[in-house]
Amino acid sequence: MTIELETYSPEETIELAKKAGALMRGGEIICYRGDLGAGKTTFTRGLSLGMGLGDEVTSPTFALVNEYRGKAGLSLIHFDMYRINGGADLETTGFFDYMDDDTVLAVEWSENISDELQDYEVITITIDRIDDNTRKITLLGDERFAVLEC
Ligand code: ADP
Ligand code: MG
Repeated sequence: MTIELETYSPEETIELAKKAGALMRGGEIICYRGDLGAGKTTFTRGLSLGMGLGDEVTSPTFALVNEYRGKAGLSLIHFDMYRINGGADLETTGFFDYMDDDTVLAVEWSENISDELQDYEVITITIDRIDDNTRKITLLGDERFAVLEC
């Protein structure tokens, strides 16, 4: 199923992502599609809030991966795959080792690892920049997002 929504500010994107974050059960792989500045990191900040992990989410551009772990409950692992090229490269990020029932993986530049992910069930979130403050956000792959429409 596909849900398509528009947001008109970063705050609105965070609010939407927060609702999506509250729906996470663990084990999800979220694959972002969208250019630089689309709002992938902003969306991840909302996810973290919705998962009860706070709003201190920064871009994993240099570290490649940032971990957000609570005292209990779900963890969020945020990847930047911009410079990742192929399976061996992906292994070095620890991507597969992070996969766990109580962990949500959120992946920027997921198109760079699409071959490696073809056997996995993923949630694809596409963010298109319409203008300075408007984003079209398309969520694909999970029935539970239907509640986000209203
Ligand atoms: P990415 O991770 O995709 O490169 P970021 O989340 O780092 O993008 O940056 C998105 C930028 O776009 C931020 O500067 C944010 O303030 C701005 N922005 C403007 N409108 C929106 C919106 N509706 N949703 C998300 N970000 C927005
Ligand atoms: Mg980013």
